[in-house]
Parts: sequence; structure tokens; C-alpha cells
Amino acid sequence: MVRTLIAGNWKMNGLRASLQNVALVSDQLARLPDEADCLICPPATLIREMAGLAGPRLHVGGQSCHPGQSGAHTGDISAQMLADAGASHVIVGHSERRADHGETNDDVAAQVIAVQQAGLTPIVCVGESLAQRRAGETLRVVADQLAGSIPDDAADLPQLVVAYEPIWAIGTGEVAQPDQIAEVHHHIRSVLTDRFGPEAGQIRLLYGGSMTPENAGMILKIPDVNGGLVGGASLKAESFMAIYRAALGLD
Ligand code: PEP
Repeated sequence: MVRTLIAGNWKMNGLRASLQNVALVSDQLARLPDEADCLICPPATLIREMAGLAGPRLHVGGQSCHPGQSGAHTGDISAQMLADAGASHVIVGHSERRADHGETNDDVAAQVIAVQQAGLTPIVCVGESLAQRRAGETLRVVADQLAGSIPDDAADLPQLVVAYEPIWAIGTGEVAQPDQIAEVHHHIRSVLTDRFGPEAGQIRLLYGGSMTPENAGMILKIPDVNGGLVGGASLKAESFMAIYRAALGLD
């Protein structure tokens, strides 16, 4: 049985004043049963301070990294640097990185290796565009992304996380229907099991795309959904913790 993971992606949002939310999250986590994992991935500028405030139940992660360890890459941050700042996870291959920075499956696979070598857990994002869904290409696109973005020698499968994030559902308020989520998560599990064997059952599969306190309970009950990657609703402690409580089956 894999543990549910509720992960927040703050994207390019948050100044030091936003860390007051972290104190609220940690405080609430301390009062709730320790039956699901909780992670926030803030901008890199906040990782170190957030890790200092997080307490034992809240993990802190990065939103991307360079595949190299160090060197002449102005503006980039390595996985080792994220680990040094206090991160335990790194999101890789988010559709916004793929779109804004032209990151390819090969780039993402190299990041996965760098993240694992730094002793951190990669969260590999996959998901189709609206045009691809309308063209009936969703399952093929997702399978291609999994094949290209997860290296054959991905170490430590239980420490690998995959997030299914249909691009058309990210930040749009439009949530994928339960049958659409169920179909893609089942497909991801079978693709990974065909490739890696039964151990792939331990890879956590998150759904991401306009998850809110209102829809989280329903989404998290879908088979093969082991948690959520939450953007907008993770920025406020109240909505983020309402999603975490839904993961525990509370409320
Ligand atoms: C995301 O940033 O990965 C995301 C799913 O955003 P939102 O929840 O705002 O759609």
C-alpha cells in the first residue's frame, strides 16, 4: 500500500511573507494523523527558510533543476544545491517548463538521474494538451512521455513519483472527469509495470489540474490515484490543508 502524497507547487509565487502559510500548515499537520505525506515546492529562493520552518511532517521541494552538478550555467540550480538548501523532492518536466524552456523528454530524463544522484525524489510530470486529447492521442502521448522522461536505469522505484497533469486542466478551473483520470492513471500504471515489473506498483501516481478542497475527495478515491499535485490551491494554508484532510478521509 503506497502512502498518499499531497504536493503543493507554488510556481513563481511567494515572497518571504508567504512563509506564514508554512507555519500554519506545520501546525495543522502536527494535529492530524500521520497517514499521508505533505510537500510544498516553493520558488528556490524560499527553500532554505521554508525547510527551517517546516517541522517533521512537511517536506520541501524544488520545481526544476539543471541536470549537471555545477559549472557554467548562469541562472541554473543543480539538484545537489536543492538538497543542500533542504529540499527532499524535485518536480521535473512540468508542462510549464516544457513550454517556457523547451525542456524535452531527454532533458527530463537527465534531470531524473541528477535528482536521484543527489538523494532526492523526482516528481515526473506528464500530460496531454487539449488538441492531443481531442485528437484521441492522450494515452499515446502520456506513454511516450513516460518512455522518454524516465530513464531505464531509474534507481529506487518506490522513491519515484509520476504526476499526471492534463495541460488543459492546469490553472484553468477545468478538472478532468473521473473516468478520464481513471483511464490515464490505469494506463500509466500498466505502462510502468510492463517496463519495470511489479515494483512499479510502488510508484506514486499523482493527479494535478485544478484540484481544490471541493473536488479532492472525489479525485483521491479514484483507483491508482495516490495523491495530488496542487498549484493554485496550495498557496493558502486553508485550502491546501483542506485537500490534505480530504486525503485522510476527514470532513
Ligand atoms: C500545477 O501547477 O501543477 C497545477 C496542477 O496547478 P493548478 O492546481 O493551479 O491547476
